[in-house]
Amino acid sequence: MPPTELHPSVDRSRFRTEPPPELLAAIQEARTVLCISHVGPDGDAIGSLTGLGWLLQALGKAPTLALADPVPEDFHFVPGQERIVGPDGVGPVYDLAICVDASSPDRMGPVYRPQVHSRFPLAVIDHHVTNTFFGQIHWVDPSAAATCQMLATLAQALDVPLAGPLAECLLTGLVTDTLGFRTSNTDTRVLATAIQLMEGGADLNQIVNMTLRRRPFAMVRLWSMVLPTVTLEEGVIWVVIRQSQREAAGVPENASPGLAGFLVEVREADISATFTERVRENGQVEVECSFRAKPGFDVSQVAFAFGGGGHPPAAGCTLPGSPDQVVPQVVAALQALRRSQLAQEEQAYP
Ligand code: 5GP
Ligand code: MN
Repeated sequence: MPPTELHPSVDRSRFRTEPPPELLAAIQEARTVLCISHVGPDGDAIGSLTGLGWLLQALGKAPTLALADPVPEDFHFVPGQERIVGPDGVGPVYDLAICVDASSPDRMGPVYRPQVHSRFPLAVIDHHVTNTFFGQIHWVDPSAAATCQMLATLAQALDVPLAGPLAECLLTGLVTDTLGFRTSNTDTRVLATAIQLMEGGADLNQIVNMTLRRRPFAMVRLWSMVLPTVTLEEGVIWVVIRQSQREAAGVPENASPGLAGFLVEVREADISATFTERVRENGQVEVECSFRAKPGFDVSQVAFAFGGGGHPPAAGCTLPGSPDQVVPQVVAALQALRRSQLAQEEQAYP
């Protein structure tokens, strides 16, 4: 499959494969550090946040780990996750804030309060191609398969050994963001780092079993309720998940349905989407959109255009309105993207 030109408007000169000196200096000079990852945390968010905590602790710093949402049960095995606090546990004053695995400031949710927290510098460590460079210090490397991969490089730059709980945390993000070393961005760096982390004591078998090979029965019940209406048109396959269906199946609000990754494996589809309806306490309805693409198609462009972000093969956004309002326009955008990427490919390789 020929490569697709991604985000022609992105300023690639700002991307770095090594941590910039100003990041290393800021970490060395700080003592108290507010560490944050993204709402709806996944394995790379939990792994990079707790990994950063162990790394800073090894350097003699005092890290506070914060997340807007609770840690999903599947990640309760990750060492240090019990130290993660919610918005109420975050104080007003630190020497430095570091945000990991988030592409835009809204992804931090209410744990970052700009009114008070903008008085000290914010460093951004992330691997999303859609990163908006929202801090004062940035290390963005979209060639990294996981933010945990970047933290392994950071630990080595700061002479912190990749061993013990740090190794377990970082291997968690490597495994989950590469779907068990299967995504197209799984390169030799990832495999070499995984070997180092395993040599440092990380338990690959446990991580794979806990994160990739387990789901609650309620989730399968939900799949059985929504799959009867699965639709495939013009290479785009999608399902809509109503809040009433999620509640009837007994799936907790913070659980990721994981269906987009399953649907993109359908042979006749190039792009998949799940549209999850959420009715907020104030009655406002919104739709969480989750996209996946086969290699050669870049769904991060559509997610970014709708105010979200992500990676070429996996991206998402949240839009106000009911599924009836949101789904037709987003599906049309995904189909238009697919047509344009097929046409580009045709031009490049007639
Ligand atoms: P998932 O479909 O697993 O929820 O997310 C896939 C990718 O898209 C992840 O890298 C995630 O960070 C990104 N993503 C999902 N939803 C949003 C969103 O609402 N905003 C942004 N900026 N990124 C999102
Ligand atoms: Mn990630």
